[in-house]
Amino acid sequence: MESQNRGVTIPVPWIRIESFAYWFLFAATFLGVAIWESFRPKRDLSVPTERRWGRHGTLMMICSVISVGLYRVSPVFMAVSFAGSRFGLLNKPWLPFAGRCALTVLVLDLVKYTTHRAYHSVPFLWRVHQVHHSDPDFDVSTAVRVHPIEVILNQGAYFAAIAIFAPPVIAVLVAELASCVQSFFGHANASLPGWAEKPLRSMIVTPDMHRIHHSEEVGEQYRNLGDIFPWWDRLFRTYLAAPAAGQDGMIPGLKGFQNEASLGVAFMLRQPFLPEPQGGDLPDVRVAAAR
Ligand SMILES: [Zn+2]
Repeated sequence: MESQNRGVTIPVPWIRIESFAYWFLFAATFLGVAIWESFRPKRDLSVPTERRWGRHGTLMMICSVISVGLYRVSPVFMAVSFAGSRFGLLNKPWLPFAGRCALTVLVLDLVKYTTHRAYHSVPFLWRVHQVHHSDPDFDVSTAVRVHPIEVILNQGAYFAAIAIFAPPVIAVLVAELASCVQSFFGHANASLPGWAEKPLRSMIVTPDMHRIHHSEEVGEQYRNLGDIFPWWDRLFRTYLAAPAAGQDGMIPGLKGFQNEASLGVAFMLRQPFLPEPQGGDLPDVRVAAAR
């Protein structure tokens, strides 16, 4: 059974595999991290968990409806559509297939690092991204606290990269699944044991590393922007090993919004269009990067 898109024949099993694998990993990772941070919380939350999950879950559903309604395709669907592109850079055998797959995962992660950096550098984008940072706490549900405009822009940039590079479909699926798992893992209100933190942080973004990015200190918000791999932060000098106040003393959130009102769904949707909050200015990028 096959379907058509842009004149390209799309084997339906790919779409089914993607959908099943994505939602299975989504639920399993959320549950796994939720159990981990329930038994070994890094810090006490200021708002009850069920209220946070309910509000953030509602925002996520709004984002999903808008995104699906607008694009009507998934990254894997996109990759299948552009697999035969004459202009693609990663669908030609100039590199062995395994090498092109590895390069795909790296390139798509670099796209996420770059777009995240743009959110912290361009005034309007920062206002949109403030919704993610104005969470008064930091836990697994913070991962889905994203404004619909950000979801639309992220998907657009991701789709554009897939269209330009025409990467192997399987690699796009792997990158998508890895990003899904990493998103929940990186926002865990929990810490890895000391013996695991250092070696793991050299390969993937850990919760202790990403939590620094959610500090209320503006200079620290410009650090640790990576999604899956920590290498881009090290390469482009945005890596920070520890917050100035230490992991236990660090305060998450955005100054001026560290209250329960910032958990309102209507508030989160309106936030990019509100007056600039106290402490919500863009950091001086050059100063932050040079520190
Ligand atoms: Zn950010």
